[in-house]
Amino acid sequence: MLYDNHGRKIDYLRLAVTDRCNLRCFYCMPHEGIDFVPRSDLLTYEELLRLCSVFSELGIRKIRITGGEPFVRKGIDSFLRELSKTPGLEELNITTNGSFTANKIKLMEEIGVKSVNLSLDTLNRERFKEITRRDLFDQVHKTYELLLKSSMNLKINMVVMQDRNIEDIYPMIELTKENKVSVRFIEEMPFNGTADQGNESFWPMKKILDHIQSEYAIKKLTDPTSSTSYNYQVDGYRGSFGIIAAFTRSFCGSCNRIRLTPKGDLRTCLYGKGALNFRDLLRAGASNEDIKSTLIQALGKRAKDGFEAEKNRGILNPASESMATIGG
Ligand code: SAM
Ligand code: SF4
Repeated sequence: MLYDNHGRKIDYLRLAVTDRCNLRCFYCMPHEGIDFVPRSDLLTYEELLRLCSVFSELGIRKIRITGGEPFVRKGIDSFLRELSKTPGLEELNITTNGSFTANKIKLMEEIGVKSVNLSLDTLNRERFKEITRRDLFDQVHKTYELLLKSSMNLKINMVVMQDRNIEDIYPMIELTKENKVSVRFIEEMPFNGTADQGNESFWPMKKILDHIQSEYAIKKLTDPTSSTSYNYQVDGYRGSFGIIAAFTRSFCGSCNRIRLTPKGDLRTCLYGKGALNFRDLLRAGASNEDIKSTLIQALGKRAKDGFEAEKNRGILNPASESMATIGG
């Protein structure tokens, strides 16, 4: 079992397999001028499999594949098949933008993916184009429909943004009426890959909840252990919805996750700096025991919460990377 210096059990890895993406969601990365990681700096699939296997020996039980867009990386299918065989791994999940995902559903079902998070910020084609800077709403919506029929749990991620998609909040709630889907409303964070520290008219969790409660009678659901979302259900609806206070950071006390970026940086907090680089360690000939002791040491110096992690970055280095380079 892995524990950090604050007594939190760590059993969840978010693995960003690429920083590349076919969309350009404005809250995640700039339109152009992005410095993608050179391919030779990315962790290879062999390196990723080795790290995941060693981490699972230490107590990682759940892995979420993310990015960038996982399905733009060549060879991802065989990697996922191999990864799903990792001894000790109990849960494999994927976060995707849905544009190339429809023909991967069978594969995900075959290898036992438990849950897919589909990012969909709006149900309106024009707004989708404005937010993602790409005209791919139809593909993503088709993926949504296919995922609903699949054997996997489906969650929709919607970043809530003033002047962008507030009018989508109620239609998103309506998706939960007949379908066993969970819609998660996410506070916008400053990880947009620019110096811009985010939207001044940002919607915090309370504002999102008040907005929903002004229209719907809802009940609170029990949140799973270490959940980042506060979960609710509209009376009589089949699905549920959650709010993720990603910027307010009210869930750090039970945080059970670490992140590995596409180039192998270990992030023990989304808001912190990379703690160390596993790619360099592997390429310098580290043994599995070296990997284990390095991870344990890094967890021994983990920030108490996202505010402390951010403070440790220093004022000259504010959190501003693209979410795609960290792994959302
Ligand atoms: N490309 C995949 C996708 O979009 O689902 C996976 C990677 S994406 C970085 C993972 C999640 O991070 C998405 O649900 C996205 O909406 C969210 N995200 C990206 N930038 C964000 C930001 N600045 N604030 C809040 N959520 C963000
Ligand atoms: Fe791509 Fe996902 Fe970032 Fe959108 S949120 S630009 S889909 S990585």
